Amino acid sequence: MVLTVVSYTQKPHVVCVPFPAQGHVNPFMQLAKILRSIGFHITFVNNEFNHRRLISSLGDDFVKGEPDFQFETIPDGLPESDKDSTQSIAALCDGTRKHCYAPLKELVKKLNNTPHVPQVTSIMYDGLMGFARKVAKDLGLADQQFWTASACGLLGYLQFDELVERNILPYKDESYITDGSLDQNLEWIEGMKDIRMRDLPSFVRTTTLDDISFTCFGFESQTCMKLSSSVIINTVHELESEVLDYLTTINPNIYNIGPLQFLGNHFPDRENGFKFHGSNLWKNDVTCFKWLDQWEPDSVIYVNYGSIAVMSEEHLNEFAWGLANSKLPFLWIKRPDLVKGKGKSSPLPQDFLDEVKDRGYITSWCPQSEVLGHSSVGAFLTHCGWNSSLESICEGKPMIGWPFFAEQQTNCRFICNTWGIGMDIKDDVKREEVTELVVEMIKGEKGKEMREKCQEWKRKVVEAADTGGSSYNDFNRLLKEVYHYDV
Ligand code: UDP
Repeated sequence: MVLTVVSYTQKPHVVCVPFPAQGHVNPFMQLAKILRSIGFHITFVNNEFNHRRLISSLGDDFVKGEPDFQFETIPDGLPESDKDSTQSIAALCDGTRKHCYAPLKELVKKLNNTPHVPQVTSIMYDGLMGFARKVAKDLGLADQQFWTASACGLLGYLQFDELVERNILPYKDESYITDGSLDQNLEWIEGMKDIRMRDLPSFVRTTTLDDISFTCFGFESQTCMKLSSSVIINTVHELESEVLDYLTTINPNIYNIGPLQFLGNHFPDRENGFKFHGSNLWKNDVTCFKWLDQWEPDSVIYVNYGSIAVMSEEHLNEFAWGLANSKLPFLWIKRPDLVKGKGKSSPLPQDFLDEVKDRGYITSWCPQSEVLGHSSVGAFLTHCGWNSSLESICEGKPMIGWPFFAEQQTNCRFICNTWGIGMDIKDDVKREEVTELVVEMIKGEKGKEMREKCQEWKRKVVEAADTGGSSYNDFNRLLKEVYHYDV
């Protein structure tokens, strides 16, 4: 792609403000790198907590930045905690709203008074970081919202007010979990078909409208959709066309530019020495590739619940024995803080470890996209985070979904129902079900069909990001209409 800057006397300077969680930082970093490689100056803003973790997982060199790519930090007002653990999403939502406006504004002013740094031209902010839009507005800068999750998840959050108006929420008491309320079909939702209450983002499972996650996600998604000058989404039109067509009736300036890892192939880093290795908050274990090499194609089940999900010890044991009883090889990424209330001490039972020692590989973090791309991986047991779901589609690997929270429920519905490339595990996971689904996915007829179907989706998303494809075109439109770059 050849680009000419038409309206800048200096490099456009974009300040990137991701929500401070792994699944948001990753796509922000991918997009920031693309923009930097075509001539933008980037300031990437982390909260202090994550920045320390990035330095610890990627090394000190990382913090120095690169030409035209610098890091800055802002405090999030949350209490200090262990650098290896995760901050609570509800606390982060609340904390960033309350504490980040002033530090970000000061930072932008400081950047504008720093010699040899181009004047800030715009702020690209996460859909959950509405305070950054206000900073942009107050300083007279352009703003772009980057929604890093799925469009179906976004549409799910946009239903929150309507659910209250229809007297569906808040639930009177916790009996909704067992009385069938979650199976209610919501035919009135425009843009999505066949969606039940249980498929909406998990925060609808609330008995109070004061719930921080419910109010934060509902409010931020509504206001960001209505007030953002433009909305960038890491999705592919072909995957979510009905949802996206509906969303454009709320905000016409939507740009679907996913999957970013494929779009990024058009933009190799322009200068030698630009050496960001990624944005992992945990240290990668790359030894798993050697272990994967020994297995037949499509024979291994890859298990990973992302960066935030936690589970009870009981569920951990059900997953463990479900995998063991399948007698199939598996690669299990088990974060040290995966078990609720156990800190970093969540050992697996010794009899399980003895049973699986020849066919199970357990570690705490891996380069997920590359693992999914390994030929021996046949399916992905996932929490259905959007990045994980998209990465699985990009590698043509079908999924077994155990959605944990947020819009993972909606993603799981799309994976299983709309795209036909997955099967889901019940909330209250049982080992027999895990075994049955894992065996079906790796050895059964359904699994074979889903793998084929997933290859078709993979072809579609590859084409979308390829020259002339929908995401490629939307990215060019974004450069032209939003950044005034001419292609
Ligand atoms: N990830 C990774 N290695 C791991 C686990 C996760 O690289 O062992 C990455 C994964 O590839 C994805 C992100 O972390 O890009 C997780 O984002 P997702 O939206 O799937 O879930 P979240 O962590 O936000 O729940």
